[in-house]
Amino acid sequence: MDEGYIKFKANWEKTPPFATTELAQLIYWRQRMFDLGLIGMYENGIGFGNISQRIGDTNQFFISASKTGNLLELNEHHFAKVIKVNVDQNWLHCEGPSIASSESMSHAVIYEQCSWVNGIIHGHQLSLWQKLLYQVPTTSEAIAYGTPEMAYAIIDLLQTSDLRHQRIFVMAGHEEGIFTFGENLAVAAEVMMQWLTK
Ligand SMILES: [Zn+2]
Repeated sequence: MDEGYIKFKANWEKTPPFATTELAQLIYWRQRMFDLGLIGMYENGIGFGNISQRIGDTNQFFISASKTGNLLELNEHHFAKVIKVNVDQNWLHCEGPSIASSESMSHAVIYEQCSWVNGIIHGHQLSLWQKLLYQVPTTSEAIAYGTPEMAYAIIDLLQTSDLRHQRIFVMAGHEEGIFTFGENLAVAAEVMMQWLTK
């Protein structure tokens, strides 16, 4: 399955866990998404879904670490800080006790493009994905998750569709893959939950 493994080159500096006070919103909303099945694990043991939050007014962000979708609860050991991303070189610099999510590059370009966005959620759900395909902004079927091509496709949607207004897009080339974002994590989660119940 095309899920859960890192496709970028990472410069990961292993550091002690971050303070739980810095991660409180992330841990709270990650749990809500996990309880809704939008973050979780497939039968083959591969985890899916991730969540991030911008740090202050920088383009740096905290994101759930790779291989954490399957965990019942996250704590300070399960987050990374993404310091710098170079999409053209498919390269990323992160710090923390665990390496950043394989989908970090997609999160990074949204923060770069939209200074008002402070929280992003990537969830999986088959029925919602099927319902949303080509009904909301959608990246091409030819584009796989976690690649520079996906990052460019997201930039393209942000610049040419009404994605900034809708705050939700799906990935035709990443089955079940849905992204939402907003001014904060509560808004990103609200967008996801509104569509779930529509
Ligand atoms: Zn995914």
